[in-house]
Amino acid sequence: MEPAELAIGVIRILGITALVVLSYSWVLRTFPKGTAKGAAVGLLFGLGGIASMSDPISFAPGVFYDARTALLVLSYSYGGPIGTLIATGLMLIYRLWLGGMGAISGSTSILLTSLIGFACAMIPGRGWKSWPLRSAAIGLAASASFVTLTMLPSDVTALIIGIPLFTLIIANISSVMVLSNFLEREKVRQRLMRVLEHEASVDPLTKLQNRRAFDKAALRAMNDNKLKSIKSAIILIDIDHFKDVNDLWGHEMGDVVLAEVAAIVRRGVRKTDVVVRYGGEEIALLLPNTPLTIAVDYAERIRSQIASAEHRMGNDCISVTVSAGVAVLGVRMYDIDAVMKAADKALYRAKSGGRNRVETA
Ligand code: GH3
Ligand code: MG
Ligand code: MG
Repeated sequence: MEPAELAIGVIRILGITALVVLSYSWVLRTFPKGTAKGAAVGLLFGLGGIASMSDPISFAPGVFYDARTALLVLSYSYGGPIGTLIATGLMLIYRLWLGGMGAISGSTSILLTSLIGFACAMIPGRGWKSWPLRSAAIGLAASASFVTLTMLPSDVTALIIGIPLFTLIIANISSVMVLSNFLEREKVRQRLMRVLEHEASVDPLTKLQNRRAFDKAALRAMNDNKLKSIKSAIILIDIDHFKDVNDLWGHEMGDVVLAEVAAIVRRGVRKTDVVVRYGGEEIALLLPNTPLTIAVDYAERIRSQIASAEHRMGNDCISVTVSAGVAVLGVRMYDIDAVMKAADKALYRAKSGGRNRVETA
């Protein structure tokens, strides 16, 4: 084979690898986990393998090299059992459909490579931390599938023994190293993005989400309200005389109180409720599918739990109260700003009416 021909073949394989990595990034964003992710990765690797098999590098008559080995041997690590089954099944069907002299040895090699990938994924990662060593070893292990070349007629096998076989093994090692490097980087990048997104939306002191999360949830609730006439309630909670807590006991005690009040509110909510730190010492709750009377009971329970709680720091022990305003995103009131204003007005009434109480809009 001419070096130029080989170079073009390698570039084609790299092109397919790049497309697979780009699509993998999309798969991770669209299906972050579970069966859907496994199936999508399997489909992607399977189609990548087929695309590569339809345009392989021809080493000798009946002997081809393409990206399938790298994709197959890594399919368990990135797509789990479902991904492996789908990728293997797709490539197997395609290889059998292609037919020719190498159909049986090629199909056996596909099965063997998947098994090798499964075995490699079972090796615990800790001792293998360094990526180059691990991926090179996987590429080398995948080369064991070349044993199926002995299923070809002996004159063809004889053509491959020696430099061509050595070249194929080097190609396996380098393609697994390149592909797994890109896939791993993408996986780490997506994980980092999720961590950053979480950190950007969660307040470190109260562990509550921030206002942005509330606005998103409110938009969803508004649409539900318009489309299905589902009522959602909003509760605004504000700690009473919180400035005095800071002034009398110190800012640190203020922080302890704020965190513990937030924990009490968080403990009492349902999974579908959204609780956010709305401002300094203000907490907002969005309760989907909740009528006013239930929301008031809810607010009342939170108020009394907070009033009876004690907050300790060193030898100091204090209690605080909260006031709350409740409003409902109802059939007539589906403008979120209007509902927030109504809840705020109710809160103001609770404050001016003596604090430690719940008022409705
Ligand atoms: P009211 O009963 O009318 O709500 O009185 P208040 O003192 O609670 O209200 P005001 O708005 O006057 O004061 C709120 C205080 O909350 C002032 C601010 O320093 C404090 N605060 C806001 N965020 C934090 C925080 O993260 N930690 C602490 N320790 N204090 C905070
Ligand atoms: Mg206050
Ligand atoms: Mg306030």
